[in-house]
Amino acid sequence: MSSDPRTAAPGADADHLTGTRRLAGDLVTGPVDRFAEPLTKVLGPRSAGALAKLGLETTGDLLGHYPRRYGDPGKLTDLGGLVLGEHVTIMARVVQATVRAMRSRGGAMLQAEVTDGVHRLSLTFFAKGTGALRTHESRLQPGRTGLFTGVVSAYRGARQLTHPDYLVIGVDADDEEAALIEARRPIPLYPASASIPSWRIQKAVRQVLDPLTEDEVPDPLPPAVREARGFGSRHAALKDVHEPFDTRQWQHGRDRLRYEEAFVLQAALAQRRARAEAEEATARPLRAPGEPSALADFDASLPFTLTAGQREIGEEISGELERSRPMQRLLQGEVGSGKTVVALRAMLQVVDAGGQAALLAPTEVLASQHARTLRTLLGPLAEEGMLGGADHGTRVALLTGSMGAAAKKGALLDAASGRAGIVVGTHALLSENVQFADLGLVVVDEQHRFGVEQRDALRAKARTSPHLLVMTATPIPRTVAMTVFGDLETSSLTEIPAGRAGITTHVVPADNEAWMDRTWQRVREEVDAGHRAYVVCARIHPDEPAAGSGAADGEGAPAKKKTRTDDFDEVPDFLDLDGPGTGSDRPPLRAVLEVAEELASVPALRGLAVGVLHGQMAPADKEKVMADFASGAVQVLVSTTVVEVGVDVPEATVMVVFDADRFGLSQLHQLRGRVGRGSAPGLCLLVSTVEPGTPAAVRVETMAETTDGFRLATVDLELRSEGDVLGAAQSGRASSLRLLRVVKDVAVIEQARADAAEVVGGDPELEQHPELRAAIASRLDPEREEFLERA
Ligand code: ADP
Ligand code: MG
Repeated sequence: MSSDPRTAAPGADADHLTGTRRLAGDLVTGPVDRFAEPLTKVLGPRSAGALAKLGLETTGDLLGHYPRRYGDPGKLTDLGGLVLGEHVTIMARVVQATVRAMRSRGGAMLQAEVTDGVHRLSLTFFAKGTGALRTHESRLQPGRTGLFTGVVSAYRGARQLTHPDYLVIGVDADDEEAALIEARRPIPLYPASASIPSWRIQKAVRQVLDPLTEDEVPDPLPPAVREARGFGSRHAALKDVHEPFDTRQWQHGRDRLRYEEAFVLQAALAQRRARAEAEEATARPLRAPGEPSALADFDASLPFTLTAGQREIGEEISGELERSRPMQRLLQGEVGSGKTVVALRAMLQVVDAGGQAALLAPTEVLASQHARTLRTLLGPLAEEGMLGGADHGTRVALLTGSMGAAAKKGALLDAASGRAGIVVGTHALLSENVQFADLGLVVVDEQHRFGVEQRDALRAKARTSPHLLVMTATPIPRTVAMTVFGDLETSSLTEIPAGRAGITTHVVPADNEAWMDRTWQRVREEVDAGHRAYVVCARIHPDEPAAGSGAADGEGAPAKKKTRTDDFDEVPDFLDLDGPGTGSDRPPLRAVLEVAEELASVPALRGLAVGVLHGQMAPADKEKVMADFASGAVQVLVSTTVVEVGVDVPEATVMVVFDADRFGLSQLHQLRGRVGRGSAPGLCLLVSTVEPGTPAAVRVETMAETTDGFRLATVDLELRSEGDVLGAAQSGRASSLRLLRVVKDVAVIEQARADAAEVVGGDPELEQHPELRAAIASRLDPEREEFLERA
């Protein structure tokens, strides 16, 4: 902490600051965007430098750095619990302060004492002469309350802070009454750092905010909305949260700013919806009964009857495909609810009508599996015929990034000529050289790996806007759907097809040998009964970190380490590599290659065919091992989370997941959904090393308790930050949401959505609402905006 009295005294660099501001004011002639002004210009280089370390560069950044919470000036810190050597910020009352000259050493010293009412703490300042200490003395008057920051040390057995940085509450007030009021105000406590304490941020905020007039604070909320919801201006709201006089005031301001975040986001989504709806699509009507139809033949050949949900949603989609406006639909469904069949039926309707469908999958494994499944499901329908001809068969082309040149060329030709009615692929489908004869429908499978940009890139490949069907990997809470996929209409498949025996889940302590033995015995029993087993590990090589293995293949570590600096209510992130319950003393994560080798010497598994699958393998090898696993040539598949999404081998009945506590709940739910897909019951064994009673253990146990994907998704999201929720879907810039909690703020999101729909409905391009338009533009990722323009 700095001991310079100039910095310690509030308002000490005010001269310098007003000077700067006056200068800036003189130079400015026209209206300026005060929010874009760099803090270096407004506050001077020193304060601005410290704020830059928190990522705050402009006035707007600083004013959007809201207090994390508010201190109650009546509540003093318990000084009994101070630990030597710790950097602390405490609130205490001054008992006395005396300056004296030090005869022995020369120089002067100020000794002050503060109290929490029970314990006492010394504050010590040194200077060359007594004069330099008088400012402190005059501020640290007995009875005043202040915030003090420093490192706790000891002098002759007593705790003390040497040269603490401090703020005395109410000291700058004009008179005693004002001082009293000042002293009772809630104290905004900002997300701070050691280089800049909270009250220094508070001071900077005031210096920036106080001179702003109402006109200089643009307000994205239209007056009518503001009035209907009982909110004041944005200017007032900023005052409320940064400089409140009482609790109700900051709560009111925070409510308004939270609502505003939801409103701007929903307005952007409403605009997107409106724009998509204004686009023209090619209608893809159903064939009349009796006419040759791939869809009708497919339905007739299905080995099962559709669930009621599959039928209803199928009809809804079918109706939308018949219109000349592009369908924009999200199909979310429980794992194993049969989304693929729904999508395939939609694709066949488009093929029947002479168009093409693209199916975009997140991994190569999944793309080739889809191609294989579709070809199998279609049988002879996938082998013959030319698109648009009298014949109603089609071709399924597969296109992935790592395919051989010849195969790729063939697939590209099939897509461009229209010969392939269905083109399945990974991101490779998005590349420039992929062309379609008549792309009518884009299906995005397991959306969580694809962003808005990718969707738009595919849509740009069609002459008229293609219909769009997006499928999520796991069910997601309603508000998340409204926020992340807010530009799409939603259908939900909640029903699991009849005849599934269900899944049982158990937690297995990794260090319990008897349980581990039993685990392998169960695997053996399943395989002996003609079934198959997955063994999932968090990484590939034993000597590699868990992160980033085959990222290009959509495969990665189960949990990535990340840091948050702008959080409000600290959301514990139990997935953090250094998080609670996962201390450095935990054994290293199990790896695919290591486990596969060990399984060879497990007595219970003797003689079984063990295969290995991970993202770093050559595509052909991946293909082969998946095919072998499907056929039974491989009985136990040791793999990374590359099997997480969508892999469908109905004979697989048991899954062992190592280090289960390191995976997100939705991810575990997805993984678990790989077993028990046939008529035999599934078994999922979650091997974990966590201490019982820790949050990580609770999460794993929640997994064992429920198979309700909605519930797991909600629990999962509650444990994550908004950045994760939104970042995962790459929708909007996470940093634009500071106060809104997607999982919690259901009512706010619903209100904002309704209000935004009304505003955008009456003025799609927001010509009457330039401030809202500007907020949308500045709060959305520029890259995304670019795509919006191009689409
Ligand atoms: P998900 O929704 O998880 O993507 P899939 O589409 O992969 O699920 O379907 C899971 C399994 O259920 C597949 O093997 C599929 O053939 C089968 N299936 C789909 N619909 C039905 C149904 N109505 N009755 C029986 N089995 C079905
Ligand atoms: Mg699927």
